[in-house]
Amino acid sequence: QKKASIKTVNPATNEVVKSFEEMTEHEIESAISGADNAYKDWKKTSYKERANLLHKVASLMRKKKDSLAKLITLEMGKLLKQSEGEIDLSADILDYYADHGETFLADKVLEPEYGEAIIRNSPIGVLFGVMPWNFPFYQVARFAAPNIMVGNTILLKHASNVPQCAAAIEKLFKEAEAPEGLYTNLFITGKHASALASDKRIKGVSLTGSEKAGASLAEAAGKNLKKVVLELGGSDAFIVLEDADMDKTVEWAVIGRMNNTGQSCVAAKRFIVVETVADEFLEKFKEKLSALKAGDPMDKDTQLGPVSSEEAAVHLDDQVKRSVAAGAKILLGGKRIDRKGAYMEATILTDITPDVPAYYEELFGPVASFYRVKDEAAAIELANDSPFGLGGSVFTNDIERGKKVADQIVTGMVFINHPTWTQADLPFGGTKRSGIGRELSELGIQEFVNKKLIRVS
Ligand code: NAP
Repeated sequence: QKKASIKTVNPATNEVVKSFEEMTEHEIESAISGADNAYKDWKKTSYKERANLLHKVASLMRKKKDSLAKLITLEMGKLLKQSEGEIDLSADILDYYADHGETFLADKVLEPEYGEAIIRNSPIGVLFGVMPWNFPFYQVARFAAPNIMVGNTILLKHASNVPQCAAAIEKLFKEAEAPEGLYTNLFITGKHASALASDKRIKGVSLTGSEKAGASLAEAAGKNLKKVVLELGGSDAFIVLEDADMDKTVEWAVIGRMNNTGQSCVAAKRFIVVETVADEFLEKFKEKLSALKAGDPMDKDTQLGPVSSEEAAVHLDDQVKRSVAAGAKILLGGKRIDRKGAYMEATILTDITPDVPAYYEELFGPVASFYRVKDEAAAIELANDSPFGLGGSVFTNDIERGKKVADQIVTGMVFINHPTWTQADLPFGGTKRSGIGRELSELGIQEFVNKKLIRVS
C-alpha cells in the first residue's frame, strides 16, 4: 500500500497532478539545524507572542478557506463541504490553544510537608511530527498548535499524497511571520522517516497513522530514548440498545460511518445492535446508505466521494472480497463503482464471525460491519473483542445506562448518543493498539513538556 513518491494524484480521476522531489540529506540536515536554532529563541518568548502567532495563522487560514479546502479535496478526495469544515476546525484549534495554552501550562503549586515547591512546564526542544492524509490540516493543527504554545519547534513530515496541503501549511506560518525554523515541512517519504528519531537535536516524536508506521517510529524513538505519542488505527463500535431513538440513531450511524468517506480513525466501523431493534436499524440504515449519490467531490451535490487513492480502494475491495470468502454476506454494495477514480460502493457486511477479516481488521472506507447481538452485555463483550481501543459510542434514551455501558468499553473515548468526534477542547486518543498518549485539551498540551520541580527549602 506504499506510495512510490511524493505527489498529488487526484483520487476522483487517478490522474497525477503534480510531483515533488524528496529532500536531500543536506536539506534535511539544514531543516533540523534550523529548527534547533529557532528553539533557542522560541523557548524564551512569552505566551503572548506565541499566541499572537497562532492567531495570525488561524486568521490567514480562514481567509484562504476556499482555496485550502479545494486543495484538500483535490489531493485526498474529501467532499468539498467537509474540507471547508476541516479548515474551520483547524483554525479553531489554533485559536483555542492561543487563548488557553498559558492557563494549561501555568505553574502548579505543590504543598509539600515543609518549604515550597512548584512544577513548571518547560519546553523540551525540536519535535518531529509524522502525519496522515485523512485530515491534512486538522492533524497538523492538533499537534503543532499546543506544542508551539509550549515553546517547542516543529519538523513536520506529512503523508506523501498531500504535498500541496503540506506546503500550504508551511506557507501559512511564513506569511504569519513565524521565525525561521519554527515550523518546517519535510518532503521525505515514510521509509526514511524513522531514521530521524536518532538525531540528537530531535527531542520527541509524534505519529498519527497506521500501526505499522507507528511501531517503526516508536522503535527508533525507543532505541534513542525519546518520548513518543502515537495516534493509530481504530475500529469503533457503535452500540444501539433497544431504547434508542431509532431515527436519530440511524442518522448518526450514516454520519459516523460515512464522514470523510469512512476514512476516519474514529469512524463508527462496527454497528452492534441488540436483537429486538436490529431489523429496524438495518432496514433504515441500508435505505439511507443506498441513497447516497456518488460523484466528483468538488461538486457540492455529491454525497459519496472517492477514497484517498487507487491503492486504498484496491485494499478495501480486497478486504471485502476476503471477508465474503470467509463467510460474510453483503447486504448492500460490495463492489468498486464503475467509473474513473478510487470509488467504492457504500457497503454493509453482515454475518461476520471472528474468522472473517472484517472482524479484526480496520475497514478504512465506506464499508460498515453489522452485528446482531442478544443484549447489552453481549454488545459490550463484542465491542471489546478488538485489537483497537480508540473510541466508541452507545445509543440509548437512558443516559445513566449509557454511562454505565461507557464505563465497560475499553477505549480512550466513548460518546453517548453521538458517534466519536473531536473538537478543540476535548482530549483525543486511545488505548490497546490504537496508540499511546493524548492530543488536544489540557492533557495533549502536557505531552512534550519537561515537568520541572522547583523546590525552595
Ligand atoms: P500510514 O501509511 O501509516 O501513513 C501515515 C504517516 O506515516 C504518513 O506520513 C506516512 O508517510 C508515514 N509512514 C509510513 N510508513 C512509515 C514508517 N515506516 N516510519 C515512519 N513513518 C511512516 O497511514 P495510512 O494508512 O495512510 O493512514 C490511515 C491510518 O491512520 C489508519 O489506520 C487510521 O486509523 C490512522 N489514523 C489514526 C488517527 C488517530 O488519531 N488515532 C487519525 C487519523 C488516522 P508516507 O505517506 O510517505 O508513506
